[in-house]
Amino acid sequence: MNDYYADLGVARDASPEDIKRAYRKAARRLHPDVNPGPEAEEQFKKVSQAYDVLSDADKRRQYDMGADPYSGGAAGFGQGFSFSDIMDAFFGGQAAGPNAGPRSRTARGQDALVRLDIDLGDAVFGGEKELTIDTAVGCGTCHGDGRQPGTGSRTCDVCEGRGEIRQVQRSFLGQVMTTRPCMTCQGFGQIITDPCYECSGDGRVRTRRTLTLRVPAGVDTGTRIQLAGEGEVGPGNGPAGDLYVEVAVRKHPVFQRRGDDLHASVELPMTAAALGASLSMDTFDGAQELDIKRGTQSGDTLTLRGLGVTHLRGGGRGDVIVHTSVQTPTRLDGEQEELLRRLAALRGEERPQGKMANPADGGLFGKLRDAFKAR
Ligand SMILES: [Zn+2]
Ligand SMILES: [Zn+2]
Repeated sequence: MNDYYADLGVARDASPEDIKRAYRKAARRLHPDVNPGPEAEEQFKKVSQAYDVLSDADKRRQYDMGADPYSGGAAGFGQGFSFSDIMDAFFGGQAAGPNAGPRSRTARGQDALVRLDIDLGDAVFGGEKELTIDTAVGCGTCHGDGRQPGTGSRTCDVCEGRGEIRQVQRSFLGQVMTTRPCMTCQGFGQIITDPCYECSGDGRVRTRRTLTLRVPAGVDTGTRIQLAGEGEVGPGNGPAGDLYVEVAVRKHPVFQRRGDDLHASVELPMTAAALGASLSMDTFDGAQELDIKRGTQSGDTLTLRGLGVTHLRGGGRGDVIVHTSVQTPTRLDGEQEELLRRLAALRGEERPQGKMANPADGGLFGKLRDAFKAR
């Protein structure tokens, strides 16, 4: 048998007022409109059953004598009433709620989201970008009120200007007043007799607008820049929403970004890797000298400090990291082959053994793995 007093958290001698108060408190906490989720829903069902029994003098007397009207497992109690229906029932109908009165023709505009493609260089240093957006602005003909200038509007005769249709339902809560928006006037209460030709009564028109955007240094693909009040104007010339600009950084032919570091790879002839060399490399800070050390291996890295992407928050910049790849010649003429054979002879490498190792212990694979480890 259910313990309705415990479910509702009231004493066995609780007054009808106590019971009502306890249920209102529980509904505030547990109603699915307020607290979605299966656990709260289950609890709400329980307290609603408890309220149904304890708030009804007859049912309560029977229950106190040992008969449980829900012992058969009736379900679904308390459902079908919205949270505000229940609150209305307790507060005596239409207090100053959001449903009271016709709805305003003026509303805040929607936020807008646009995508902006930028080059990697813009992400490194930031920059100014022009952005063309299709958006809604206030109608110049009717100045937002939606009426053809010089015309008026009339009161909706279906809802008599209230903008909503009220219905009274009898239920365990007593009389519950429910309201729905009036379909005839769309909830406005007034009907515009001659809608503005320019905006068809919406009070705003669509237009194309260009604005200049400061892209901060350090942005990356997916970064969103918020421009307050640059979204679309609301109906009836309502305040504009915000514009969100989502950045997408184009692929760069040389650099791959990881965090704020820029990675590149350079192919070196075998001879340069062995003898050392000096190379010139184009970076976003101009040409830089790359000092290739004697005996450079495939997978070695050279770091150019502070030439990467500016940190979005806080100063400083990432690095440019160059990965070397040693190229073995594939075609040799007679003289080159002769020279290499002599070199092999001098180095005792005519019949090399090959040194075997587990790739996990380092070597080329290990270096690559370390270099590409997620960061
Ligand atoms: Zn207009
Ligand atoms: Zn109406």
